[in-house]
Amino acid sequence: MSLDELKARLSELNNVNRAAAILGWDQQTMMPPGGAEARARQLGTLSKIAHEIQTADETGRLIEDAKKEVAGMDYESDDAALVRAAEYDYEQATKLPTDLVVAIMETTTLAHEVWVEARANNDFEHFRPMLEKIFDLTHQMVECFGYKEVPYDALLDQYERGMPTREVKRLFDELKQELVPLVKAIAENQDAVDDSVLHRSYPIDKQREFGEKVVSAYGFDFKRGRQDLAVHPFCTHFSANDVRITTRFDPNWINPALFGTMHESGHGMYEQGIAQNLDNSILGSGTSLGVHESQSRMWENIVGRSRGFWGHFYPELQALFPDALNGVTVDTFYKAINKSYPSFIRVEADEVTYNLHIMVRFELEQAIMNGELAIKDLPAAWNAKFEDYLGIVPPNDAQGVLQDVHWSSGLIGYFPTYSLGNLLSVQFYDKAVQEHPEIPNEIARGKFDTLLNWLRVNIHQHGRKFTPQELVQHVTGTSIQTGPFMRYLTEKYTDIYNL
Ligand code: ZN
Repeated sequence: MSLDELKARLSELNNVNRAAAILGWDQQTMMPPGGAEARARQLGTLSKIAHEIQTADETGRLIEDAKKEVAGMDYESDDAALVRAAEYDYEQATKLPTDLVVAIMETTTLAHEVWVEARANNDFEHFRPMLEKIFDLTHQMVECFGYKEVPYDALLDQYERGMPTREVKRLFDELKQELVPLVKAIAENQDAVDDSVLHRSYPIDKQREFGEKVVSAYGFDFKRGRQDLAVHPFCTHFSANDVRITTRFDPNWINPALFGTMHESGHGMYEQGIAQNLDNSILGSGTSLGVHESQSRMWENIVGRSRGFWGHFYPELQALFPDALNGVTVDTFYKAINKSYPSFIRVEADEVTYNLHIMVRFELEQAIMNGELAIKDLPAAWNAKFEDYLGIVPPNDAQGVLQDVHWSSGLIGYFPTYSLGNLLSVQFYDKAVQEHPEIPNEIARGKFDTLLNWLRVNIHQHGRKFTPQELVQHVTGTSIQTGPFMRYLTEKYTDIYNL
């Protein structure tokens, strides 16, 4: 049976890729800086092996034969879905020469340490040659992939299959029209919310204790996952039964670890929720970054920044941090964690201004890919766009163009998926509540099973069986839209700021 042979082959491919993921996790959590060069070689070799298995003639032959075997099967069956995904991956991978794949892996692995240094020393020039090389390799990759309308299409498609640049632009234009007046109305009412209570002394061990307690209550399974420290928090998985989340602590600011842990647990629960029979196959991952981010943002914002949630959890938080929170009411705290104001760092931005941070990156990446912007001019272009969108200019590049890990990792075309995830998070949550109106009341009692089970049944278990478009259509009956997100935001912020 070619199908069985194909499965065995793809399972090996999956093993190589997951082993590489372990090395990637180690690099960002444990590895001393001195390990970078050896790690680049090791990951380069693994990416070569994976690419060779992926693009071998034998793989192509097995896919063609397996297609005949699954021809009569239900479209939604695991086997039919596996062969569809395998064919897509094969077609994509065979467009890239192995040399280019290895060069990208080695360059981006080395670039990580250079970026960490550049960011720490606020020195863009230190990072510039690496970034130029990365964009050069990205241009080469785009030429190999080909594209329909603009080069950026080829990049976006890697992370959000089937989503054209034109459609993201349309959604962003819609969003911008509604966000700008909301940001302005909030700015005029800025005094309504004071968030100084968040910037007090919060001992790190207690922060960790509370964060892990919350995400355990959400349903993140620490028997099948763990949390470690990273410069730039992320989630990765080696299996549905071994999912790694990361966080970072600030002893004088409760937000980064608290909401970061909630966020990453949303990614983690998606991976832990994938059906066991898809584990160890190429279907054993979330279907797209947009859908992934819908999960993290739902647990971080819609649940974790809701009044209901804090009605239940605030007394516990207060008991852990009596010095910081004695005499601070739950309403003061709730408003503080939802304070909206223009800020420099994307991952710490509030729900209203967050998508503006993404639009800055989306436009700059396109300008570079279209040859309209040189890397040497990127810091100035960043600052100009930032002023245009958020009305403030970063005081230095560490808080500006150097803040994100993504470009050093070669992740170009990735940022828009954060905004798509924000939009989807509300669409999915609305659907869950429509089917289970008791969900908000459960959240207010510190219970999350109904929501998590709904997500598992409708989204998590399927892994990569369906394309993001298929999944969104299937679950919501429509495509990605801005309306539900803007309604959610307007309602929430009208209340918080008495607009
Ligand atoms: Zn995320």
